Amino acid sequence: MPSRAEIEKVVLTGGAGYIGSHVAVALLEAGRDVLIVDNFCNSHPEAVVRIGELAPGNLELLERDLADPAHKDDIVKAVCDFGAQGAVHLAGLKAVGESVAEPARYYRNNLGATLTLIEALNAAAAKTIVFSSSATVYGERNKNPVTEAGATGPTNPYGRTKLFIEDILKDVAAANSAWRAVNLRYFNPVGAHASGRIGEDPGDIPNNLFPFIAQVAVGRRDKLRVFGDDYPTRDGTGVRDYIHVSDLAHGHLSALDWLAARQKGGAIDVNLGTGVGYSVLEAVAAFKRASNRDIPYEIAPRRTGDIAEIYADAGLAKKLFGWRAEKTLDDMCADHWRWQRMNPDGYRG
Ligand code: NAD
Ligand code: UDP
Repeated sequence: MPSRAEIEKVVLTGGAGYIGSHVAVALLEAGRDVLIVDNFCNSHPEAVVRIGELAPGNLELLERDLADPAHKDDIVKAVCDFGAQGAVHLAGLKAVGESVAEPARYYRNNLGATLTLIEALNAAAAKTIVFSSSATVYGERNKNPVTEAGATGPTNPYGRTKLFIEDILKDVAAANSAWRAVNLRYFNPVGAHASGRIGEDPGDIPNNLFPFIAQVAVGRRDKLRVFGDDYPTRDGTGVRDYIHVSDLAHGHLSALDWLAARQKGGAIDVNLGTGVGYSVLEAVAAFKRASNRDIPYEIAPRRTGDIAEIYADAGLAKKLFGWRAEKTLDDMCADHWRWQRMNPDGYRG
């Protein structure tokens, strides 16, 4: 049985963000104390207010830049004073195109933030970490469903920061057996908390499919551009493994509990996906059903760097953590739509 008591105090970096806010709610609902470290570079303080409303509990916020050397001492002290026993590390920049344009900024931010967190956890003797990696670390030629043994080969600087951080955590764990780490390779997180109070709030034009569809459904954009209909898939459009963000959030709790119960140190990679792939047109049809709105679209050229199809082998998370995704594509669309409808302009509304 996981010894819950061992990791009661959790540092949550990036906790104000899309996924982080859902992880915060899951941790607080499970009775954990949470210290969010976030600089709001891609999120809004209102998210933290709403986390507190959804899941009353012991929630603290430290507004600092994890990658700024000038903030390091403050962060180390706060993590120690909090009495941290482990961390869930989600702080990072995540826009693929931006990472191609500004690689150095991405390496500084994503790697720098991780190194500061490692230092803080060392100082607090809290050498347990769950890291938000991504399916983007996989290369293009893997057979579906992709297992954790699949070949890696990210095609952009963002993806490479994820793979480097996985390797950093493996090196740290190899050097000191007190370190325990799980690199969670997320597939495509979508949806929102069922309350409609927290969700994804892309400040700019969304890069990802679901927020774009949602903005078309709510009338903020004219139409969706479907990037390619000539892939070797069942309807020619790209296939991905969409996973409800609340299922994903619970995956972090399961990973943390598994680490707490684990005697052995080390770092391990684990997929978080549903194991099922849906095409772009299937996602559009499901969102249309959920929202009862028209979703006009046009077929556009393929997007550079896209692959035809990828979905997870989700067996390892089930075997190790006893976790699996519960929610359907219809649940994802219904919850994503509720969030979009209730907050048409996101947290700024
Ligand atoms: P998000 O941008 O909503 O959340 C990231 C949070 O980290 C934001 O609140 C941001 O302000 C904070 N942050 C970034 N750099 C920071 C720094 N230097 N110091 C302090 N705070 C900082 O993104 P998200 O979608 O919630 O993603 C969370 C994590 O999961 C990211 O690391 C992302 O790369 C990873 N991930 C996301 C997806 C996805 O599709 N959303 C898929 C795979 C992996
Ligand atoms: N996609 C699309 N139009 C968009 C955004 C995405 O057709 O405006 C497609 C994209 O080509 C891919 C799928 O939707 O096949 C999921 O894209 P997303 O960017 O959400 O995830 P990723 O490609 O990073 O897995």
